[in-house]
Amino acid sequence: MIRTGIGYDLHRLADGRKLMIGGVAVPFDKGPVGHSDGDVLAHAICDAVLGAAGLGDIGTHFPDTDPKWKGASSLRFLEVLPAMLRKKRERIANIDAVVICERPKLGPHFPAMRDLLARALGIHPEQINLKAKTNEGVDAVGRGEAIAAYAVVTLESTASVQRSARRSTRGKSR
Ligand code: MG
Repeated sequence: MIRTGIGYDLHRLADGRKLMIGGVAVPFDKGPVGHSDGDVLAHAICDAVLGAAGLGDIGTHFPDTDPKWKGASSLRFLEVLPAMLRKKRERIANIDAVVICERPKLGPHFPAMRDLLARALGIHPEQINLKAKTNEGVDAVGRGEAIAAYAVVTLESTASVQRSARRSTRGKSR
C-alpha cells in the first residue's frame, strides 16, 4: 500500500530578511516574509507528508497564530512528522521537490538541504530529490518578488511490510 501527497508553498520576498530554504541560510539580499522562517521548501514537504498520511495540512498542526512558531526554524515542523507517521504505520519512501525562484542559484546548496531535511525527517538524503527552476521572468516569482516550492511525497505502509514478513516466516515453518 502506497500513498502520495502534494505540497505547495509561496512566500513574498522582502529586503534584508534571511533566505531560509530547506533549513539552509542561502546568501541573498532578500528573504521570505512569514510567521516562521518562511522556508517554502520545508513547508511544501510538510504539507505533502501530511497530505499523504491523511493528516490535513501545515496550518492545522502549526497555526501561524501560535506564538510558539514565531520565527521558528521550519525544520522543527518536519521533526514532528516521523512520530505522526509511525502512529499511522507509514514511512516515507521518497520525496521529490521543486523550488522556483529567479535568483539566487540553489543547486550548490542542495546537498546541505538534503542532509538537513533528511535528518529532520529521520530518513536518508538519497530519499530526497531537489530541483530548481526559474519562472522565466514571468509573474511575481519571475520578477523576484516571491519564492515558491512544490513537493510530492510517497509513503509506504509499514503494516503491510510487517504482514508480508509474518507471511514469509509462516511459509518457511511449513
Ligand atoms: Mg509557508
